[in-house]
Amino acid sequence: MKVIKPGSTIGILGGGQLGRMMVLAGRNMGYRFVTLDPTPDSPCGQVADKQIISGFADVGAAEELAQLSDVVTYEFENVHASVTEQLEKNSFVPQGSELLRITQHRIREKTSLASHGIPVAPFEIVETEQDLQRAVQKLGVPCVMKTATGGYDGKGQWVIRTEEDIPKAFAELSQAGTELIVEKFISFTKELSVVAARSTRGEVKAFPVGENIHVDNILHQTIVPARISKEQEKQAEQIALQIAEAFQVVGLIAVEMFLTTEGEIIVNELAPRPHNSGHYTMEACITSQFEQHIRAICGLPLGNVDMLSPVVMVNILGEHLNPVIEKIEELPTTAKLHLYGKEESKPKRKMGHINFIAPTVEQACAQIEQLKIWNVTEE
Ligand code: AMP
Repeated sequence: MKVIKPGSTIGILGGGQLGRMMVLAGRNMGYRFVTLDPTPDSPCGQVADKQIISGFADVGAAEELAQLSDVVTYEFENVHASVTEQLEKNSFVPQGSELLRITQHRIREKTSLASHGIPVAPFEIVETEQDLQRAVQKLGVPCVMKTATGGYDGKGQWVIRTEEDIPKAFAELSQAGTELIVEKFISFTKELSVVAARSTRGEVKAFPVGENIHVDNILHQTIVPARISKEQEKQAEQIALQIAEAFQVVGLIAVEMFLTTEGEIIVNELAPRPHNSGHYTMEACITSQFEQHIRAICGLPLGNVDMLSPVVMVNILGEHLNPVIEKIEELPTTAKLHLYGKEESKPKRKMGHINFIAPTVEQACAQIEQLKIWNVTEE
């Protein structure tokens, strides 16, 4: 059993906030870090020992990262699978490239999930407008058409509400030059997520379920404990653990789910990395998702995932950054601020987050409301 011990160097493909928080957790444990990202002084580069400045498709630069590292990981899933495949030949990349190949492509993802008996929305694969017509007839309206690759935060999606939408929806999304999938519209009461970990030793653990509130398709809040029944909580955690086992995950897997109006849980999407909806773990759990990821890829025993306190995580987007800084003295002393060190603040860009730790999630929500920074209407 290969154990990567403290003092070793971890290489991270990608220099964003997820890499930054991975480094901050790993440094506490005594690891060293090198990151690769095209933007100089990236959020992760600021806290790593070294940053290689290069694009993600540059196999030579990735090999340089690997030579400096005892283990290689990634912090975003659009890493070119060809780069990880190449690295796997000469370096230790315990996460492999197969899970990336699956999660980078919605059709492969949904097909694999379904083949393991995991509940997903009924779907059809679409190549032509006639296929789409047939798919819409089969699934009924409304239904959701998505591009197989490249979509995020609701981009690359179209909700087909009537058959008249078909030509427009097809014309627009077929321009993306990728395959298309149409899913039955799921009528849900809540969006949930579970971050699970599986280590190189095959040990698995799931963090408590998060209840996610999105605004304009971007995560706004994660509320934990989720306001669902104990059985639903258990079922969501079981599904995440089942996926971690079935896909032989190494590291983290974030599982986004819908709780339907009938009380069923349906998996929507996977992300094979730390996830925004797992940031609450940083102060609210004994082990954070970032520490857990490092433990998992380094072959250490997984950390305890018990909660220390109820929590509400709120994202700080570009438009919230100045109000947060202006009101910094008004933040409750139990509110934990994390800023990512991004030089340029733009509307909708994730600049940081705050974990509001409180005796109940209702109290945490009240603290957030009182600050009057996030004047949003929930979707
Ligand atoms: P996704 O890019 O798949 O995460 O989808 C973005 C958002 O669109 C989700 O968070 C849901 O709010 C909504 N959505 C996606 N797929 C469906 C579906 N099949 N039925 C209903 N809403 C959906």
